[in-house]
Amino acid sequence: MPETDVQIAGGGLAGALMAGLLARRGHRVTVFERRGDLRRAEVDGGRSINLALAERGLHALRCAGIEREVLAHAVMMRGRCVHAQDGTTRLLRYGRDDSEVIWSINRSRLNGVLLDFAEAEGARVHFGHRVDRIDFARDELRLVDERDGARRVLPCRVLIGCDGAGSAVRAAIAAEIAIGEAFEPLGHGYKELEIPPLAAGGFALEPNALHIWPRGGYMAIALPNTEGSFTVTLFLPNEGPHPSFETVRTPAEARALFEQEFADALPIMPGLERDFAENPLASLGTLRVAEWALRGEALVLGDAAHPILPFHGQGMNCAFEDCAALDSLLGDANDWAETFAEFHRVRKPNADAIADMAIENYTEMRDRVDDPDFLAQRALEAELAARFPETFVPRYAMVTFRRIPYATAKARGEIQSQILRELLAADPTADFDPARIDWSRARALIEQRLTPLP
Ligand code: FAD
Repeated sequence: MPETDVQIAGGGLAGALMAGLLARRGHRVTVFERRGDLRRAEVDGGRSINLALAERGLHALRCAGIEREVLAHAVMMRGRCVHAQDGTTRLLRYGRDDSEVIWSINRSRLNGVLLDFAEAEGARVHFGHRVDRIDFARDELRLVDERDGARRVLPCRVLIGCDGAGSAVRAAIAAEIAIGEAFEPLGHGYKELEIPPLAAGGFALEPNALHIWPRGGYMAIALPNTEGSFTVTLFLPNEGPHPSFETVRTPAEARALFEQEFADALPIMPGLERDFAENPLASLGTLRVAEWALRGEALVLGDAAHPILPFHGQGMNCAFEDCAALDSLLGDANDWAETFAEFHRVRKPNADAIADMAIENYTEMRDRVDDPDFLAQRALEAELAARFPETFVPRYAMVTFRRIPYATAKARGEIQSQILRELLAADPTADFDPARIDWSRARALIEQRLTPLP
């Protein structure tokens, strides 16, 4: 691809990584980010917001040469630590060993490393600049300086929208062509809270786990931060019978909910009422967008193209995989329009698949992680994975620890679930006992329906 002036809307996670990768290919890259430079300013009121980083995201960071630097800011999570209502806990490992783990990473620190990478590769980043409108007929980008409201108009030939779920670039493409947007609200929202480090220093809970308090129609989770705190996210229905954000509105109502439902967390959350009062309530949903590109002039990727629910911990990982995919397509390309079309062809089925799996994972996390049928299925799944490691790979592992396309992981996951149901149907007792499984039938079903993974 000849060296081109490329503009990027958004210097968040995807925007900063994409900028660095494009600049490394010799393109002249300019990023416009509406917020200030988070490496210099306190953002999010000083709150620690963290994300689970998995193999797909790590691979993209590896391609950029910054994996080690990022992992220096991350805490390993080996599995889910499930907190039952009576306060007992149980650790369900994610993978076979410490090669199959995920990492809790602070969003601001990660974004900072990515911005350093982008600038080191030669991208220019303009903070405090919001992309307002795009005039494709005139090849013009219209910006607003968020600091003084000044407006600027710049020439623009190739624009990549990495400006998140409310993307201005997506809206501009939609003004030119039908992009087929369909939004599915979840009807649930979330609030971020905190478990601080112990007074004497150190973590108040097992640090190397993603903690989860599943309670049927709702749940709380907590991810560790390197400084000893945990970021807690409380997910509740937006409205309806107790508990919902309609019935839990005040700090006192939040305390009453925690006393009742998350009693073991309450003593280690001294700032619960303050956090509940101060932190915003945010809503969740899935946006499907049929078209992501306008000729060779504009493309959206990451959350700008496919905002998904956070329950598989894959939104950022998928956004990073987008960046690596576009970068590799550009290696052999001569034409932006063809590259954008190919990117859409390759990535769209996978974005749809992870959107579906994230919805399914929500039901699993909030309802099923302590349900006996679910535990029996997971136990059998682990046995099959140990006996047929090349062929029967749990769906969570395919999504989290491998880089096979999400659509393949979803299709194989459906076949595997059916096999689990068929094998367990022959033994409907609640407690899973490997001695009661017909292993020759298991082998036959797996060999008939699945091929070994590459
Ligand atoms: P964003 O991170 O939204 O970045 C967009 C950037 O564009 C921002 O910097 C914004 O300021 C800027 N911007 C916006 N509009 C404009 C404009 N008009 N002009 C200029 N700049 C603009 N993913 C995971 O992989 N693992 C997790 O554990 C995980 N947990 C999550 C938990 C929650 C509660 C939520 C809501 C999401 C979670 N995600 C997780 C998803 C993840 O946050 C997103 O998928 C990821 O941030 C997408 O990156 P992005 O760069 O595409 O968009």
